[in-house]
Amino acid sequence: MFEKSIKAYEKACEVIPGGVDSPVRAFKSVGGTPPFIKKGKGAYLYDIDGNKYLDFVQSWGPLIFGHCNKDIEKAVIKTAKKGLSFGAPTNLETKLAEEIVEMFDNIDKVRFVSSGTEATMSAIRLARGVTGKNDIIKFEGCYHGHSDSLLVQAGSGMATFGAPSSPGVPADLTKHTLLCEYNSVEQLEKCFEQSSDIACIIIEPIAGNMGLVPATNEFLKACRKLCDKHGALLIFDEVMSGFRASLKGASGILDVQADILTFGKVIGAGMPVGAFAASKEIMSHLSPEGKIYQAGTLSGNPVAMAAGLESLRKLKDNPEIYDELSKKAKRLVDGLKKVAYKNGIPLQVNTRGSMFGFFFCEKEPKNFKDVGLCDFKRFAIFHHEMLKKGFYFACSQYEAGFICTEITNKDIDACIKDADTVMKNLK
Ligand code: PMP
Repeated sequence: MFEKSIKAYEKACEVIPGGVDSPVRAFKSVGGTPPFIKKGKGAYLYDIDGNKYLDFVQSWGPLIFGHCNKDIEKAVIKTAKKGLSFGAPTNLETKLAEEIVEMFDNIDKVRFVSSGTEATMSAIRLARGVTGKNDIIKFEGCYHGHSDSLLVQAGSGMATFGAPSSPGVPADLTKHTLLCEYNSVEQLEKCFEQSSDIACIIIEPIAGNMGLVPATNEFLKACRKLCDKHGALLIFDEVMSGFRASLKGASGILDVQADILTFGKVIGAGMPVGAFAASKEIMSHLSPEGKIYQAGTLSGNPVAMAAGLESLRKLKDNPEIYDELSKKAKRLVDGLKKVAYKNGIPLQVNTRGSMFGFFFCEKEPKNFKDVGLCDFKRFAIFHHEMLKKGFYFACSQYEAGFICTEITNKDIDACIKDADTVMKNLK
């Protein structure tokens, strides 16, 4: 059923490293060949072999309204007809910034960029420039894009200065990155004892890059308290959770407020975009107002702005969408858990708004190490068998899944029924 994709993949591998433009797409952790996509429509993906899949990935989050939403499509086409890029200011940027700023008490200004990687990289530069400090704290299992200082791994699993996790990143560029266990207040305190030069903590308040693992309220409060005590800034990376976990992202459902927020793919509704945002005071340090340099030829691209604006307005006009999406996410994972247990397979599940995750393990994972103890072989078989039945789940247990408005309860129930059949053979 994947013959054409297999051939397309072989051809791609000849001219693109690993056949893909972003590593996770190669299906390395589950094996097999990734289906090559021909088109998307609503809740569904269609591949070049003619297979149809219910899409639980939604371009890794951005498509809250599914594929080819009529309103977003219209806004994009209308804008594209006036020109694809000007490298000059447009009202669309101001309008989208206004819509975002209006939603958050702790934000006055937004700067748009073209990806999540750029957003977090720029936010860190801003935090360093504002505080005049150099070190940053990041947590194991949180992903903030592929900029050099964020590609680090733990030395010992304890609070430690990170070593590069990729060849090509000089150790000199990660020596200012302190790595610490997610949800461990004790390790976080140790980081602050170890360095008096901490500019910021960057965290996914709802981690979606080690599967779905939310930070505890206690942990986030400790992040806030320690930042305040030591004159550091708190960055919530909401590239994935922004507009997904709730309209206001993780910030909308947590007691803790960050100093800087980063957004990404979701605010572009499928177009390349990112943003970082903070108070007037913090943002005033940014060039051309201030001295901290940051720029981008395609930043605030009009077509991306138009897509984001239409999507955000639709979400604001129809807030009930969030309730519906989170009910559907719960229906899916509760159903999966039920059939897993019926078949004697331990499964841990979680949701936050329209984000969901499931792990083949006995105990709910609280950090990256816990996730590493899950049964990855079982996940790979589950993934492959579900794909054959027409369900497109994220191709790694380290990734979250997403529900869009076009997925119906009937779709979800059909998925659970097929998952039951697959799990019978998973023991
Ligand atoms: N931060 C988070 C939380 C992300 O999930 C991602 C991408 N998955 C990024 C940053 C990087 O975004 P991009 O891939 O657009 O560079």
